[in-house]
Amino acid sequence: MVVGAGHNALVAACYLARAGLDVEVVERRDVVGGAVSTVERFPGYHMDVGSSAHIMVRHTGIVEELDLAAHGLVYQDLDPWGYAPFDSDAIALHVDLDAACQSIAKVCGDADAYAYHGFASAWSAHNLKVFEAFQHPPTGRHLVRHLAGIGRSSGVPSIELGRQFLLSGDELLDLHFTDERLKTALAWMGAQSGPPTHQPATAELVAWNMVMHRLPPGHPVGGSGMLSVALARRFAAAGGTLRLGDAATHVEVGAAGVHAVQTASGDRIACRAVIAGCHILETVDLLGDGLLGATARTVNVGNGIGMVVRVATDALPQYPSATGPEAWGGMQLLAPSRHALRAAWADYLLGRPPAEPIPLVMTFSAFDDTIAPAGKHNITIWAQWHAYELANGEHWDEIADREGHKLVAAVDRAAPGFADSVEHLHVQTPLELERELGLRRGTEMHLQRNLAQIFAWRPTPQLSGNRTPVTGLYLTGASTHPGGGVFGASGRSAAKVLLADRRPRWWRPWA
Ligand SMILES: Cc1cc2nc3c(=O)[nH]c(=O)nc-3n(C[C@H](O)[C@H](O)[C@H](O)COP(=O)(O)OP(=O)(O)OC[C@H]3O[C@@H](n4cnc5c(N)ncnc54)[C@H](O)[C@@H]3O)c2cc1C
Repeated sequence: MVVGAGHNALVAACYLARAGLDVEVVERRDVVGGAVSTVERFPGYHMDVGSSAHIMVRHTGIVEELDLAAHGLVYQDLDPWGYAPFDSDAIALHVDLDAACQSIAKVCGDADAYAYHGFASAWSAHNLKVFEAFQHPPTGRHLVRHLAGIGRSSGVPSIELGRQFLLSGDELLDLHFTDERLKTALAWMGAQSGPPTHQPATAELVAWNMVMHRLPPGHPVGGSGMLSVALARRFAAAGGTLRLGDAATHVEVGAAGVHAVQTASGDRIACRAVIAGCHILETVDLLGDGLLGATARTVNVGNGIGMVVRVATDALPQYPSATGPEAWGGMQLLAPSRHALRAAWADYLLGRPPAEPIPLVMTFSAFDDTIAPAGKHNITIWAQWHAYELANGEHWDEIADREGHKLVAAVDRAAPGFADSVEHLHVQTPLELERELGLRRGTEMHLQRNLAQIFAWRPTPQLSGNRTPVTGLYLTGASTHPGGGVFGASGRSAAKVLLADRRPRWWRPWA
């Protein structure tokens, strides 16, 4: 039994069904995918509910292993993956490193372009090793082995590498580059996991993005949710059962471990194992207090990350710097400066909506004509930081419209005329993300991504590694290693751990 049909849970379900197990998935919502789903918000507009840009999953090999192309998944490459307009100039971060450096040279000069070449080459190689550590349950053995591997293959002494990983993203950028516009674009991209890049140990969040020069991020034709739809089809083809619109309400545990799941419709489904793909705090609630240990409730969810508006327009944003369609190829990074990023973070800490929200714009209808009516556009404006719990006496339901229009205005400042092109607007505040997707406090990554909640500390040391103290109960999803984002690695790890536990003991000498 798998609880939740988020994409990690679906990945786990596919691997288990492929191995011949009898698997049922129960999902509270009427659509599959959780934060990787797409729905028709306005006639003809198929809008993402959560994620839009798929970066990590394309590096895992899961798409190929499960042959998701045969189940309807078609990726369009996002290239350039980043486009940062500044007045009449723009930096285009093409997938091709030389082309990206040419763009940087035009705006920031040769020295920064040269530095970027070295930075991107080194960190995309380092991150291949980091990525290997992401592909397995987080044991100390794997972590140390892979990090030592970075030192060996790069020739950088591990003590120096350790120092670089502990730097803030801003310190790392200051070490390498001089032009503030380049640093701003990379800092804003680096902040996408949640923490601002002035915080300690965020260097890797900035440097991680260099992997996009090896393999571009993708947009599934039809919307982000088409990944989940393909997973659901793959699961059904392997004989799995998917039950939508019926939440798990209780996981029954006896002396021998989990043995049944009760659902909101009143059903009781007997089972020998459960993979919980929902938020860790939901899993704690489903089991009842105590069973997952006292620390399970102490995880740090944070106070939300951001909010998003989905807009239907009759035109694409026109940036004065744009000379061709490259502006709409990927993620449009509209942070005016690192100072503005810090100001938005300061508002977040004080519990008030940002005076100047920082947008990241995606315009995938520029090249996918299935997600908007002919001649129209389907545009996502994601912004940070937005506190879930406001300290200024306001309520998200009362200010949703105002804050949504603030985001449109922020895009209009970079692309004059944009606001006039808007025909419909759907606002998703942190509170609305919690209601629709079950993301506690609207935190898209389930838990804060800080040093104390990564690798073998995620969600807690006792619950890392996909196993739990309850026999037959396994965890997957953004609450577990390697964390949030469109990834799937945690789902595959959970399935592998469960399958390993079913083998006779003599067959798994490592257990
Ligand atoms: C607005 C937004 C934008 C984002 N943008 C990006 C992006 O561009 N790129 C990126 O990489 N990441 C992005 N993310 C993050 C990413 O989408 C998530 O971190 C990731 O999808 C979480 O996946 P998951 O497998 O943990 O499951 P979730 O998506 O959290 O799904 C959990 C599922 O469990 C179900 N469920 C919960 N409780 C129960 C229950 N009791 N019974 C049955 N079902 C239950 C829920 O309904 C849900 O379907 C974004 C997220 C949001 C919200």
